[in-house]
Amino acid sequence: MFSNWENPCSCRPVNASSGRSAKLKTMAQSPPETLVGMDLTQIRDLVGETGGPSEPAFRARQIYQAIYRSQARSFEEISSLPAKLRDQLASRHDLGLPEIERVYDSSDGSRRYLLRLVDGRTVETVLMPEGERDTICISTQVGCPVDCKFCMTAFLGLERNLTAGEIVGQVLEVSGHNRLRRDGGRLNIVMMGQGEPLLNFENVVKATRILLDPKGFGLSPRRITLSTSGIVPKIEQLGCEEARPKLAISLNASTQRQREEIMPIARKYPLADLMAACKAYPLRPWEKLTFEYVLLKGVNDTDADARRVAKLLARLNAKVNLIALNPGPEIPFETPTAERVASFQAIMRRSTPCFIRKPRGLDIFAACGQLKRSVVGQASSPVGYES
Ligand code: SF4
Repeated sequence: MFSNWENPCSCRPVNASSGRSAKLKTMAQSPPETLVGMDLTQIRDLVGETGGPSEPAFRARQIYQAIYRSQARSFEEISSLPAKLRDQLASRHDLGLPEIERVYDSSDGSRRYLLRLVDGRTVETVLMPEGERDTICISTQVGCPVDCKFCMTAFLGLERNLTAGEIVGQVLEVSGHNRLRRDGGRLNIVMMGQGEPLLNFENVVKATRILLDPKGFGLSPRRITLSTSGIVPKIEQLGCEEARPKLAISLNASTQRQREEIMPIARKYPLADLMAACKAYPLRPWEKLTFEYVLLKGVNDTDADARRVAKLLARLNAKVNLIALNPGPEIPFETPTAERVASFQAIMRRSTPCFIRKPRGLDIFAACGQLKRSVVGQASSPVGYES
């Protein structure tokens, strides 16, 4: 039943009888690679093919920096290039930035973007400004093959993986549209949008390298977080990457049985294996593991649950983010009371830093698990997040 989890190209529903899973769509081919998403070596090859071997090596660096650091939006804006090379590139290639289809503004300052990709599919990206910090929540897949029962993205199934360019493109488009500053640790990226990032491992890692490259987008590794439902072998693989985001685990249960009910992927990657992978994960000196915990009324929110979670995390350098469920259509759970959430937090805090995440963008359906992809003329498709 779970044999295809590591290969989203042939992913099948967890529960073939589930109405949610029945909506799983076939995986389409990835679109062709665009300039956005290319690393320096690829751009060097492209310049050689386009301008010929006489083009100096620094041309590739000029293009790389123009796209990722200066955030050029067209070849014309790369004024450091000779006009002839610019025209040659423009006639044969696309930068490949996503197009803004719709923007939804929340009264709390959040902005939900519906971005159109080169093949016409759309993904959602959310900007959450707060005080001195801007956070962009990006997607890594169109849809998601993981069938978490509290998440509306699961209704979509997986349409396809995003390319590295489409992952970086969300950051470039939204940060450029809002003229966000990158200095002073102000800008944060969270891979908590649509999709399970570790089931699109190669593209996510490539995008991360570009975002972290000082000559590329230039973010600090402290400013990017990847959240996973617990793809154990890929967690181990991510730990071997030199350029990697911080790791967050979407835990959401205090026992194996409970996790299987809420997140069927736990049958493939049991809680004990997940915790072992977390214990073995090579944290950098400044780093903590983050555990996300969506509280579902009467399901996983009791004091006994809190004590069990505290025990699970006892030997880890970790912090916990609690999220009271943002209810959605067809989600078979309710939101716990504020008192219940506070009681859970108080127990957790005896042993582990524990925070309550306040929902953002509720009025534009941009809060965790609430995003709803909708645009005039297009069927409304629910998406959510908290991978
Ligand atoms: S919570 Fe994350 S991994 Fe689970 S279905 Fe939703 S998007 Fe996919």
